[in-house]
Amino acid sequence: MHEVSIAQEIIEIVKDYLPKNNHVSVKSVRVEIGEFSNILPDALSFGFKVLTNITDMKDTELIISKVPLTVKCRDCENISILDEPFFFCHSCESANVEILTGTELKVIEIELND
Ligand SMILES: [Zn+2]
Repeated sequence: MHEVSIAQEIIEIVKDYLPKNNHVSVKSVRVEIGEFSNILPDALSFGFKVLTNITDMKDTELIISKVPLTVKCRDCENISILDEPFFFCHSCESANVEILTGTELKVIEIELND
C-alpha cells in the first residue's frame, strides 16, 4: 500500500511549512489527487490517520479533492476532460496531447488552529 508513504510525504510537507519552535496545531490539510494518480483516497486517509495517531497531528483532518484527468490538444488547442486514460483530443481526435491535470498529488492548503 504505497498510500502510507504518500501520507508520510504529506506530513513532511506540512512539518516543513510550520514555523519552528512554535507550538501550532494543524486543523486540516487539503490535498488534490488526480483521478489518474493511482492513489486511493480511502487508503490515503487511513494511512494519514495511522501515521498521525500518536503525534500532535492526531486531530488534523485530511481533506481530499479529486482532480479530473484533462489534456490539451497540441493540434487544435482544445482541452478535453477524460473519463478514461485514453489520451486523445475529443475535438479532433488527435493523440498529440499534453496532460494538464489528473496525475498530481498536491498539498494546496494547510489550516492552523487559532
Ligand atoms: Zn484537437
